[in-house]
Amino acid sequence: MNIADFKTSLDLHAVGQEMYQLITELYPICRSITGDGFRESLRIIKQYIPLDVQEVPTGTQVFDWTVPREWNIQDAYIKNARGERVVDFQKSNLHVVNYSVPIKKKVSLTVLKEHVFTLPEYPDWIPYRTSYYKDNWGFCLSHRQLLELIDDEYEVCIDSSLEQGHLTYGEYYLPGKSSDEVLLSCHSCHPSLCNDNLSGMALAAFLARSLRLLSLRYSYRFLFIPGTIGSITWLCLNENQVSKIKHGLVLANVGDSGRSTYKKSRRGDAEIDSVAMHVLQHSGQDYEVLEFSPYGYDERQFCSPAFDLPVGNLMRTPHGRFPEYHTSADNLDFVQPPYLTNSFAKCLSILSVLENNLTYLNQNPKCEPQLGKRGLYRTIGGAEGEVDELALLWVLNLSDGNHNLLDVAVRSGYPFESIKRAADLLCEHALLKAKPEV
Ligand SMILES: [Zn+2]
Repeated sequence: MNIADFKTSLDLHAVGQEMYQLITELYPICRSITGDGFRESLRIIKQYIPLDVQEVPTGTQVFDWTVPREWNIQDAYIKNARGERVVDFQKSNLHVVNYSVPIKKKVSLTVLKEHVFTLPEYPDWIPYRTSYYKDNWGFCLSHRQLLELIDDEYEVCIDSSLEQGHLTYGEYYLPGKSSDEVLLSCHSCHPSLCNDNLSGMALAAFLARSLRLLSLRYSYRFLFIPGTIGSITWLCLNENQVSKIKHGLVLANVGDSGRSTYKKSRRGDAEIDSVAMHVLQHSGQDYEVLEFSPYGYDERQFCSPAFDLPVGNLMRTPHGRFPEYHTSADNLDFVQPPYLTNSFAKCLSILSVLENNLTYLNQNPKCEPQLGKRGLYRTIGGAEGEVDELALLWVLNLSDGNHNLLDVAVRSGYPFESIKRAADLLCEHALLKAKPEV
């Protein structure tokens, strides 16, 4: 079965519910760029797809970076003088600055405040902060919690470890007819945050699970990696393989109520850019296209100058553009099944266009073929047949070996599916032939 037929046969609503279910299961886990939370998350995703889990030792040099020590955490709290936990990691893993060094000591309120982060403008939300590459410790509190702290002596405890270990990532390679690859990558390193992180992971997992059932032109490579250091590590270890990547998408923030956003690859005119823009343009829904910029998610690394891979970034609301971003309010309410469904369907459409975007050769290029005698020309006038008829003419006219079907769709203004249907019909009547791929 191909992707388009598969999409039609699918209960998309149910897929959105299942994706949300996976997000709910992953939500409580304290993930980071390394450590057992990341491994546990991959173990859960492995229930959906046969991921290969890779472990890269601490200290491994990856281009200009070094794989850091592995971080794990058991518990953390701030106790008041009466021994009550006034801040408790067990209630939210966002309470600890991710990658905090272990600490257990008594401090005054003044000292404590030097290690506390809050969001005064959103007094009920807990911010998400990290300190990956500088030894430090800290707590993240709701601003309301901070205001309730009286001048007292506090016991601060972070029962964490930073040791020689590994950077873990998950990879799933799905072979297609061609060894040319489509890369689908998501960062998987954030703790309890739903849109930024978990939505992309769920989307990648469900796309992988779906594509497994289909006959595919391209091979697909799915990466579940820690942000930045993960893509740098993967690119360093797979440098001699990346030329196989012909198209790619970084998936992030795909579960909120905002409109779909596509951020172009560094090249700006890659096939994936045209395909994603075409699908969004014909979705009948509001959307936004952003030019490439060297800030954002792992497209920064995939699109670094020496690689310059054709990898764009599919999102709904971009990072930093929603107040819930990197706070406890990016939770299970913020992400909803219908938006996950919508992102999933758009991804399938994008992949379907990629899979079918072949170049054809008109077998009767000297003037128009006589469509009527082949039953391809409407015999009785009327609005209905007209659309496809014009699509047939466009496909015939532009199938000179230099235009792929998306070129025809863009130039004619038709959605890709109409042009593809026209091409299939012309092939059936031997008026068109796919140009052999080199
Ligand atoms: Zn983030």
